Amino acid sequence: MGAQDDRYPDLREAVRALCREYPDAYFRAIDERRGYPEEFVGALTRAGWLAAMIPAEYGGPGLGLTEASVIMEEINRSGGNAGACHGQMYNMGTLLRHGSDAQKRRYLPAIAAGELRLQSMGVTEPTTGSDTLKIRTIAVRKGDRYVVNGQKVWISRVLHSDLMILLARTTPLADVARKSDGMSVFIVDLRDAIGHGLTVQPIANMVNHETAELFFENLEIPAENVIGTEGQGFRYILDGLNAERTLIAAECIGDGYWFIDRVTAYVKDREVFGRPLGQNQGVQFPIAEAHIEVEAANLMRFDACRRFDANEPCGAQANMAKYLAAKASWEAANACLQFHGGYGFAREYDVERKFRETRLYQVAPVSTNMILAYVAEHVLGLPRSF
Ligand SMILES: Cc1cc2nc3c(=O)[nH]c(=O)nc-3n(C[C@H](O)[C@H](O)[C@H](O)COP(=O)(O)OP(=O)(O)OC[C@H]3O[C@@H](n4cnc5c(N)ncnc54)[C@H](O)[C@@H]3O)c2cc1C
Repeated sequence: MGAQDDRYPDLREAVRALCREYPDAYFRAIDERRGYPEEFVGALTRAGWLAAMIPAEYGGPGLGLTEASVIMEEINRSGGNAGACHGQMYNMGTLLRHGSDAQKRRYLPAIAAGELRLQSMGVTEPTTGSDTLKIRTIAVRKGDRYVVNGQKVWISRVLHSDLMILLARTTPLADVARKSDGMSVFIVDLRDAIGHGLTVQPIANMVNHETAELFFENLEIPAENVIGTEGQGFRYILDGLNAERTLIAAECIGDGYWFIDRVTAYVKDREVFGRPLGQNQGVQFPIAEAHIEVEAANLMRFDACRRFDANEPCGAQANMAKYLAAKASWEAANACLQFHGGYGFAREYDVERKFRETRLYQVAPVSTNMILAYVAEHVLGLPRSF
């Protein structure tokens, strides 16, 4: 139905075939018990989809962010939620682009073989929120180790991951020339860390999304686990964030098509006042409008992917794709819920579940206002507002 559907038809069909094994009822049941889709993520891993971006020399197929985004889109479009596993794709970007050969040799083949999961990234902190440059979690070098103290919040999939990418200050904010200096990125082996300096406190939330508060008390990380150069970590994390925003744009596009497909089928079928609901312009227009917005967002998503894969700057496009796609999927969600009438609220239709899931992307991983502020400052050259 989408104008871009003829891109990567074989890849789409292969992912769809896997997703057909995990129908609405599977995700509905997991949502109801607030579980984790172990079987689904296991099947994706065994099929190699979560290793898409790992180069052939490390045992993966060496695909780009574009193909990774198609995989994520198809999961959401099938009625599932890629939020359970998308971390692996964008965290991979940080390791691939900035990790040392030794780090890549150590982790990537095992990830490609499905023996290691790289699903978590710890950036957000409770006291500083969107103001990432002020994070307070600090890692102090002591011989061949770093000792980490601090706190993170909303860190997803920690209990379903073996590794976590962690952003911490290695030089206090007061001692750096530029606020973005002095932060470093570490690979944390969660299997060693949890219970030995890292405490995980899960946060119950509106979506069925495994996320947690993290407390670091003298957590020791081997110095060899720093990614790239100490103090340059913010730059590396930005690459990961661009990949994350673009992938989540693709997921929102998958959601958007799901909502539009569902509501279109429903309003063709449902008759009220002696004719199909979909014969009324008051019903047609919001659905058509949402469809137009999803299609437009999709173009920006492919532009962001192309730039990322070509190693070109893509911050503006990644942010704009995420903004447009999250807005479009939310419009589509509203139309879908509205025109299902009361049935939209019944769990068995899955609309309320997908409605909650897609709502998250107005806030996380970057909120709409932060994208607007980015575009105002970095694209339009307006004065920094904060
Ligand atoms: C389910 C879930 C999963 C998440 N997973 C992860 C994860 O895996 N890793 C991770 O690091 N983080 C994660 N996050 C955190 C997420 O990235 C943050 O919630 C988000 O960046 C917003 O930060 P905050 O919640 O502290 O909101 P705040 O920074 O307190 O902002 C609150 C609101 O105010 C707005 N606002 C703030 N400042 C301004 C301003 N100057 N002008 C205008 N508006 C402003 C914001 O846009 C936002 O809407 C997750 C969050 C959720 C809810």
